Amino acid sequence: MKPMPRRKIVAGNWKMNLVYEESIELAEALLEGLQEEKMGDTHVIIAPPSLHIQPITELLLFTPGIAVAAQNCHEEASGAFTGEVSAQMIRSIDADAVILGHSERREFFGETDELIAKKMKAALKNELSVIYCCGERLDERKSDAHEEVVGGQIRTAFKDFSADEMTNVIIAYEPVWAIGTGETATVAQAGSMHHFIRSVLEELFGAATAEATSILYGGSVKPGNAADLFAHADIDGGLVGGASLKADDFIRIIYAMGG
Ligand code: PEP
Repeated sequence: MKPMPRRKIVAGNWKMNLVYEESIELAEALLEGLQEEKMGDTHVIIAPPSLHIQPITELLLFTPGIAVAAQNCHEEASGAFTGEVSAQMIRSIDADAVILGHSERREFFGETDELIAKKMKAALKNELSVIYCCGERLDERKSDAHEEVVGGQIRTAFKDFSADEMTNVIIAYEPVWAIGTGETATVAQAGSMHHFIRSVLEELFGAATAEATSILYGGSVKPGNAADLFAHADIDGGLVGGASLKADDFIRIIYAMGG
């Protein structure tokens, strides 16, 4: 499996948005609009609805720097799980990665870190990189429990992982109160949490893994705030929801990382 060292990454989570033609149009707009020299060494990942992955991977074939992710996968390889999609299926249509543990999956589908750990194992086994999302709720931030909550999520989710497996894991810190709300964590809040996450990774896997793991910030990243966030040494990029649905905005966010 190709290891993913600490890299600058901007990922777009399209969630359950866009019908087929709109997804293709957005992928085409990115393909046409992105200028390599302005991207620098930033890697771009887009996560369309799973139905649209295959035509988009075909469209992006031979486009270095743009990878495609699913937004979820089932933990089992196959079987009687109506409506579900396995990591093996996702890999078979040439996707590169899968987002797991998004707060919407945790909140609306009851996903726990134990379940997310199983899904991550399934993804890695099928040569998909993982974008693991973690983050505290507003009440947890207000009661100053944010580090305890996020540290707990990471310690539980990665309990049975090796440093080798971590080479294909990207962490996305996404404070729940900042997702889709227009409220962004300050650079100081995000930077300090990223620093803390890196210290937890060091405790679990050692300094080399902690240093090599990309940690993205997610939560109302926009063209206007991306450059400030990405300038922080511990913020290796962003996971972008709403603003990734507009090619121009997403491209400006990518350039904020690349520039
Ligand atoms: C997300 O869903 O991962 C996200 C960060 O959304 P938004 O950018 O819209 O806050």
